[in-house]
Amino acid sequence: MWLGVDDTDSLEGGCTTLVFHDLLNALPCEHGEPRLTRLWPFAARRTRGNAALSVEIFADDSIIEWLDKYWKDNIEPLKGMISVSEHSEREQYPSDPGMTLFTTQPDEKYYWRAVRGKAEPLDFGHQWGGEGRIGAAASCAWPALTTTWEGIAWRKGVREVSEESLTIVDNMPETFLCRDPRTNRGLVAPRGPCPVMFGVRATDRYSAQKAVETLLEGSAETIGSRVFCTNQASGDHIESSITDVVETKELLKGGHVIINQRYLAFAESGDVNKSAQWLEEGDQFECLGLNYEGQIHLEAIKILKSTKKERPLCECGTRMKSMGKGQGVRCPKCKKTSSEVWQETNRIPIFDGWVQPPADKRRHLAKTLT
Ligand SMILES: [Zn+2]
Repeated sequence: MWLGVDDTDSLEGGCTTLVFHDLLNALPCEHGEPRLTRLWPFAARRTRGNAALSVEIFADDSIIEWLDKYWKDNIEPLKGMISVSEHSEREQYPSDPGMTLFTTQPDEKYYWRAVRGKAEPLDFGHQWGGEGRIGAAASCAWPALTTTWEGIAWRKGVREVSEESLTIVDNMPETFLCRDPRTNRGLVAPRGPCPVMFGVRATDRYSAQKAVETLLEGSAETIGSRVFCTNQASGDHIESSITDVVETKELLKGGHVIINQRYLAFAESGDVNKSAQWLEEGDQFECLGLNYEGQIHLEAIKILKSTKKERPLCECGTRMKSMGKGQGVRCPKCKKTSSEVWQETNRIPIFDGWVQPPADKRRHLAKTLT
């Protein structure tokens, strides 16, 4: 059977990873590896972390009654608590927890729908609660084709992770996004009131576990820790890249850049924004981004071709000049003429290959590109 939980987060508590950790500890049956899935970042009611959780459990139908009681005692009371949207600090949504149970894993199509757009609740399986049922079911449906791992520990009181432990973990080749390479700031400890002490990401389960143990040695007191298999850094939210040619480019208020009235490079997207500023009409680029209300929010960009038109150089090394419309060009020094009026030369791109926003501005789902 597949069990999922989502949307329990609020300002007053109810962090979904911790709610799920407690549920796993209480389960009266065996279970498989816990899974943490990030879903479509624009889901209207998304809660702060937007992590949905799921696990395969080895139980019979009697588990339904047990889950029903657990739901009423522990998860349902979290409904209605206020959480802040990730889009705007002012936008607030009451949490609307959901729990789902399926006898067989739901079709992966449902996961793809929920990670790339808006999904409606499924109409089968055992379901408890409200909006959270969508994420809970989508997490159950995740086929886990591209996976990374995250080890999470929850704090008892203060949040404190030692620099020494962080450095050891950051130097492990299997971990990623532990520090922002530009500012050297640690990225494992979240900000704000949530009970997470740290979340450390790795490309395999064993390394995630090792990183957790290392960080725990240098942390303040915790109430528990667990390693989750995740779809973070999978790139699952974007089906394919887009290649296009620059027709128009506008610098917007706040430093954002919009290309062709369609591709939006936010000011805080670092090198992505710089690339967009650098591009000129006629340049070719490839990009990854999410379509939101008709615009592509850029998450990565690669400059493919950029040229500039210049007057040809004369044999003597002087740049030729136009003699007037349709009259060709002439060297101002030795008076040689040419019928080739323009010469195309390549501009050297500001960056080579793919560029992405700084580590702390990337989406959880964004793949690391090189
Ligand atoms: Zn000349």
